[in-house]
Amino acid sequence: MNIVLMGLPGAGKGTQADKIVEKYAIPHISTGDMFRAAIKDGTELGLKAKSFMDQGALVPDEVTIGIVRERLSQHDCEKGFLLDGFPRTVPQAEALDSILDELGRPVEHTINVQVEKEELIARLSGRRICKTCGTSYHLVFNPPKEEGKCDKDGGELYTRADDNPETVTNRLEVNMNQAQPLLDFYEAKGVLKNINGQQEISKVFADLDALLQGSRS
Ligand code: AMP
Repeated sequence: MNIVLMGLPGAGKGTQADKIVEKYAIPHISTGDMFRAAIKDGTELGLKAKSFMDQGALVPDEVTIGIVRERLSQHDCEKGFLLDGFPRTVPQAEALDSILDELGRPVEHTINVQVEKEELIARLSGRRICKTCGTSYHLVFNPPKEEGKCDKDGGELYTRADDNPETVTNRLEVNMNQAQPLLDFYEAKGVLKNINGQQEISKVFADLDALLQGSRS
């Protein structure tokens, strides 16, 4: 199962991605997570990515495409993969097509999780992430069992720097402008499938799962 999962920040993409990779036992490839891990580890990649990420800008295509090419070539991707946060630009989408052509493993599902802007702002402003495992919560919509602590490993929950209320609206607008050409690219290819992300987490997953299995609920 080769999947590209798209959605604006706050659409619930990460939450749904976790559920899909668990059910289908495929690797979850999130470029954002890869960059954050590289920054934490102080690698050369981290140094390259940090200044762009801190400004809420995209990391340059050649850097991002390079890490995805390397990751997709690894053995565990032979059984499938879920790409989350990549591609973000049309050149990345074109590069992805050619990488997968070379590997003989085309994308089977190109999915966009749709949520309205006002709802995204509300969601992002209350988002909290586990410092240890990266699981996301929401203070109101998806709270942890114990305040400030991850249900899975008890890790401390924090607010991502780019989720702070002053920058959320701007970040969303930048992302919407960036996402549109990519959606148009996949739309023109006739492969884009939209999912209504403005439903309960379990219902969004049920819709996604039905789509992955070739029918819609
Ligand atoms: P995310 O966790 O997907 O919201 O990504 C966080 C940040 O990582 C983005 O704001 C970008 O700076 C960088 N990033 C993640 N994926 C990409 C990508 N496909 N292309 C360029 N930059 C990316």
